[in-house]
Amino acid sequence: MAHFADILLPLAQPTYTYAVPDDMTLVVGQAVAVQFGMRGYYTGIVWRLHDEKPDFDRIKRVHHIVFERPLVTPLQQRFWEWISEYYICTLGEVMRVALPRMMKSSGHSEEEFFQSEYRPKTETCYRLSDELRDEDRLNEVFEKLARRAPRQYEALLEIAAPDAEGRNEAGELARRLLSADGSILHTLRRKGYVTSVERERSFEQGRICFRLPTLTPHQADALEHLRADFRAGKHTALLHGVTGSGKTEIYIHLIAEVLQGGGDVLLLVPEIALTAQLIERMERIFGSRVLAYHSKISPQRRTETYLRLNRSEGGEFVVGARSALFLPLKRLQLTIVDEEHDSGYKQTDTAPRYNARDCAVMTAHLFDGHTLLGSATPSLETWLNARSGKYGYAALTERYGEGRLPRIILSDTLRAARRGERKSHFNKTLLDKIGERLERHEQVMLFQNRRGFSPYVTCTDCGWTARCPECNVTLTYHKAGEKLVCHYCGYTTPVPAHCPACQVADLTAMGFGTEKIAGEVVKLFPEARVARLDRDTVTSERAYNTIIDDFAARRIDILIGTQMITKGFDFDGVSLVGILNADNLLHNPDFRASERAFQLMMQVAGRAGRRSDGGEVVIQTSEPANPVLRQVVEGDYEAMARQQLSEREAFFYPPYARLTRLTLRHKDPDLLRRAVCELASRLRARFGRRVLGPMAPPVDRIRGEFLVELLLKIEHGASSVRARELLCGEIDALHSKSEFKSVTLVADVDPQ
Ligand code: ADP
Ligand code: ZN
Ligand code: ZN
Repeated sequence: MAHFADILLPLAQPTYTYAVPDDMTLVVGQAVAVQFGMRGYYTGIVWRLHDEKPDFDRIKRVHHIVFERPLVTPLQQRFWEWISEYYICTLGEVMRVALPRMMKSSGHSEEEFFQSEYRPKTETCYRLSDELRDEDRLNEVFEKLARRAPRQYEALLEIAAPDAEGRNEAGELARRLLSADGSILHTLRRKGYVTSVERERSFEQGRICFRLPTLTPHQADALEHLRADFRAGKHTALLHGVTGSGKTEIYIHLIAEVLQGGGDVLLLVPEIALTAQLIERMERIFGSRVLAYHSKISPQRRTETYLRLNRSEGGEFVVGARSALFLPLKRLQLTIVDEEHDSGYKQTDTAPRYNARDCAVMTAHLFDGHTLLGSATPSLETWLNARSGKYGYAALTERYGEGRLPRIILSDTLRAARRGERKSHFNKTLLDKIGERLERHEQVMLFQNRRGFSPYVTCTDCGWTARCPECNVTLTYHKAGEKLVCHYCGYTTPVPAHCPACQVADLTAMGFGTEKIAGEVVKLFPEARVARLDRDTVTSERAYNTIIDDFAARRIDILIGTQMITKGFDFDGVSLVGILNADNLLHNPDFRASERAFQLMMQVAGRAGRRSDGGEVVIQTSEPANPVLRQVVEGDYEAMARQQLSEREAFFYPPYARLTRLTLRHKDPDLLRRAVCELASRLRARFGRRVLGPMAPPVDRIRGEFLVELLLKIEHGASSVRARELLCGEIDALHSKSEFKSVTLVADVDPQ
């Protein structure tokens, strides 16, 4: 029996060695309570058991076992280890995202720990008492009750019914499955006819016969392609299908196959706003088999889901956001990543800064399962892998049914202005078309990019603009309340009456967001019903659903929105989509700007075409000759991909290189500069010209701390493991200097 256990704690720390008390038998993967430092008690995972006595004296003992059954399987251990190595973070940070909050109880004292420990919700279950197991006696009681107490009779009949659905292994029925009143059940129990017990709440797995949609010949063909690729030994495949072509229908067929064979399926979605509709659609086919898992699900339910899967024998189907990757699906055979190109799959703000899409590809290897990536506009990384034959590939080029792809028109803003055909932010072309659609009682969507186009205030005379004193960014102007707000730290201040710099002139609002556009639309089309969908109007899931429902029910004529309107529901009534300014999409200071602009515009355009007449999309731009815009007009993904890939190759960017971004942070700019120069020269000694920087990020001051970045570009083919070792060695060397201990360093592998 092992005498020592390496315990993993949910802290930014490695594992710690504890002694195993003589009367305790531990199993790897189990959750235990341990005391850590002065900070109290934590839940940890038994990572390794051994007999190597550590060379410090006062070794603490494992306090108690929290869950008997191991919570983390050996495969999950390997997955966590891979994430911690690849994304340069500690195992403890992986544990933090991997386990639901309620499974990581902690406390300053034993008592506090015990208070916060997870307790399963229980429910009362009923069965016939032992006395009534005798058939003659049962019939006797039935006869008596049928005459004298019909309600008791009915309740007893329900509990005794041999074919009752949802009976557990002990032959009991949960209270919630019975229709009888509490008082009736109480009487039956008092009379000794039934027995009740408290059991941990469980949820049934549900039926296994599914009614699947019939596929069109094209869809059936694509499905067959994917199956053949998987059979041929490919772990990952790309399903490249235009919006509305029936990718989801193909997912459904693949999911059913795996579930019927007793395997587990994971379906990942990039955003919570999108999960609700997809879950509904999946429930129509798979019923209660569908398990939702994302941050809007209650902590109790998330923990129940984790524990239930931990005990499961397979046949589980989870639909969730990126953290669902960490669920203990022990027979995971299929992972589907919907909208695989979406940057929402990347966790950016806290470690582990993982990309769920890439992790899903990794788990396919680890579990010897399959991963399907679906998109209308795949990421160039995925596209290259599919083209080179590393991934399987199937395409759907047509919309299902009557749906036609919309006609896309470019409208030149400069020419319109020269001809006097521009009113505020609208070209005459777009205004005329909106008017036409309104007359025909059709709906219109207008898209305004959020990023970089928040309104701000500036002095008409000296050019002063309002900036955040803590973060080096322009403050955003909010018309409601006449406020200036920092979108990084939340700093808020009223709009000054006069320019604080020159004290003379007035300030005017510049730039425009959805709010401004909506104001203009209301003036231009006073009879139209107008609504906005953006971060300001969508303050809750309910607010979002209300707007979407109103639009679907045609209580809104014109919907103006940001990125939020690009995804999700399809509205039959929409026949015109306007993109107000494509220029700022194309000119983001980001090597992925063109790819992103293409993806976004195709997605916006996709909102217009669920109709047999196809609908129209008007894109306003000052550069109608821009090749990306031409590719959008043609709907030519391949042309875009070819051109962008050749640029990426020439400038040595992903997918031809792997990037790691290092961000250093400190309050003292001089100390920060010394630290980054030292790190840069250390890294240059190792990596030579693969190191870029130091440079200031777009926002170089946040909450009073200064930021500076280094970028490491490693060519494909070079050992990424070796590169990581060297990098980590140099980071450690920097931090080991007492001078630089207080400098915060964040590594972001494969930044988005
Ligand atoms: P995608 O996921 O590629 O955007 P969907 O699977 O959502 O496309 O399909 C678009 C619409 O067409 C949906 O309303 C869907 O129900 C319908 N559809 C697609 N294929 C079929 C089919 N084979 N049978 C019936 N309806 C289909
Ligand atoms: Zn001024
Ligand atoms: Zn700020």
